[in-house]
Amino acid sequence: MADSRQQNPGPYDPCSVPKGGLNQQERIILPLKFICPSDCVCQSKVERIWHHKKCGNPSFITDYGDILCKNHLTDCPGYFIKDASFQCNKAAESNTWYQHKSMSQLFDALSKAIQVAENDLSDDKVIQFSKNLINQLQTRWYT
Ligand SMILES: [Zn+2]
Ligand SMILES: [Zn+2]
Repeated sequence: MADSRQQNPGPYDPCSVPKGGLNQQERIILPLKFICPSDCVCQSKVERIWHHKKCGNPSFITDYGDILCKNHLTDCPGYFIKDASFQCNKAAESNTWYQHKSMSQLFDALSKAIQVAENDLSDDKVIQFSKNLINQLQTRWYT
């Protein structure tokens, strides 16, 4: 369940956005667009768009470090990014799943996801998101 798969880039279907909308309220969520874990067989630095394996909808990351999709209030509970596995098209050939194993690797990947979102977010929101995320990851990583 805590898995995301690569899908080819395309515009987000507005229906795929979790309830509450994308950054219209207090909580900030970003489309989950980042590179594969560093041990992935593809060894690619290209950002990928990830979709929830269970339901096929786009994955999003919250400033709490949770990954969720539009069904998170019903069929698809959110999950902490540390517990998430990723499979790009290359990894799918051998049906292998990879995780971001260290916090520093994850920060690296997430900084890209935040960069991608910078065009759509005010500086305030970017700073708030990054701050919350770092705090939450540090708090939750070892628990
Ligand atoms: Zn990969
Ligand atoms: Zn889902």
